Amino acid sequence: MSGNGRQRTILVAGGGISGISAAIEASEAGCQVVLVEKEPYLGGRVVQMHQYFPKLCPPTCGLEINFRRLRTSPRIRCLTLAEVETIGGGPGHYQVTIRRRPRMVNRKCTACGACVEACPVERPDAFNYGMGTTRAIYLPHPMAFPLQYVIDTDACPGAECGKCVAACPYQAIDLEMQSETIQLEVQAVIWATGWEPYDASKIEGLGFGTYPNVITNVMMERLASSNGPTAGKIQRPSDGQPIQSVAFVQCAGSRDENYLKHCSGVCCMASLKQARYVREQYPDAEISIFYIDIRTPGRLEDFYSEIQKDGKVQLIKGKVAKISEDGGDLVVEAEDTLSGERVTRKVNLVVLATGIVPQGAEVRFETGGGLARDEHGFLTEEQGLSGMLPVGCAKRPSEVAGCVRDATGAALKALHICAGSGCE
Ligand SMILES: Cc1cc2nc3c(=O)[nH]c(=O)nc-3n(C[C@H](O)[C@H](O)[C@H](O)COP(=O)(O)OP(=O)(O)OC[C@H]3O[C@@H](n4cnc5c(N)ncnc54)[C@H](O)[C@@H]3O)c2cc1C
Repeated sequence: MSGNGRQRTILVAGGGISGISAAIEASEAGCQVVLVEKEPYLGGRVVQMHQYFPKLCPPTCGLEINFRRLRTSPRIRCLTLAEVETIGGGPGHYQVTIRRRPRMVNRKCTACGACVEACPVERPDAFNYGMGTTRAIYLPHPMAFPLQYVIDTDACPGAECGKCVAACPYQAIDLEMQSETIQLEVQAVIWATGWEPYDASKIEGLGFGTYPNVITNVMMERLASSNGPTAGKIQRPSDGQPIQSVAFVQCAGSRDENYLKHCSGVCCMASLKQARYVREQYPDAEISIFYIDIRTPGRLEDFYSEIQKDGKVQLIKGKVAKISEDGGDLVVEAEDTLSGERVTRKVNLVVLATGIVPQGAEVRFETGGGLARDEHGFLTEEQGLSGMLPVGCAKRPSEVAGCVRDATGAALKALHICAGSGCE
């Protein structure tokens, strides 16, 4: 608290790497921070990765340190399962209404898992992009922060079942838990609402949703991950067989007037990284990468050069026109724009490198309207109201390092706004 009794408070919407970084930076500079995340866990898309480039470390590396800083900070309040609903007031004194959904599990939860054994209801596992199921009461993933179970209220029959309540030795399950509304006054809002994968089923001719062995790049991250649906084994979804050949299809739906016009900037690096996942498990697998042009700026070029040395990786310059099925295998067709020849490859697995779609916050401003976006849906730097600061992939496609730099900048801007608002 300052001498005039008002506190500097910054709201951060979105608890991915961008939001976490901004929250930590602002709090360590002396601000109060409220971090609001709509999922039951923090970490965003990064926690769904197997490894991340350029160093190929697991998501635990880096995130664990951040979680510890969040846990021990006296100035950060984390609200999971929460979203901003409305914003009133004006620059320097925004009145924010947050809606928080019930977790149905309280802090007595030790994540022992007794409830899961008792729960009779299955639901699709969103964390694994629908590959596999969880029970209606579930731990989102083994590294979840907070490490606490949650109930999917759409799937759970509630008190009429109640088997999890009886099974829990800690009285941690409360099926009567209700949504809450939280009101706050804040000086600035950092929008770190991130991205979601482009819906590959919209892309004509590439067979996603029709052929089980056509998957997307985000699904590949989960397949390769030791806490994923196959415990880290890259295999064909249709029959669980090992793979001898795989094709990566770059710009699947991206840089295309019919689907996503923009380049997502990270998909080339993601596929080159995933080619390494394949190579680690299958020393002899044939890997084809179909591309328009490979984008690996700056130091990432080294990563590209390294892959080019692999004699069983073929880089084919050509946009894939069609994928069809032949037995369980897939036939990929493209025109090689360097030779002018039609190329076909028969492979066991296809990975579509789908792009990044900005994820929005459906927030309502009491002055009218919502957040300003560009033609691709990304939040714009100019929001019309000072103190509304977009960061990370909500603003533009970016790799993790770029998001962290951006978040630090946004935290600094938010501190300036607080300083100018008469608060200390
Ligand atoms: C296939 C693939 C592989 C990749 N691999 C790498 C890699 O190896 N290395 C690398 O550096 N980058 C990689 N990236 C990029 C990386 O995923 C992004 O840089 C990173 O996820 C951006 O973090 P973010 O916090 O901006 O967004 P996100 O990770 O999307 O986090 C946003 C958070 O905000 C939450 N949220 C959304 N809306 C709301 C709301 N209304 N209210 C509250 N919360 C909300 C979300 O639930 C989420 O937790 C990859 C991308 C792809 C597509």
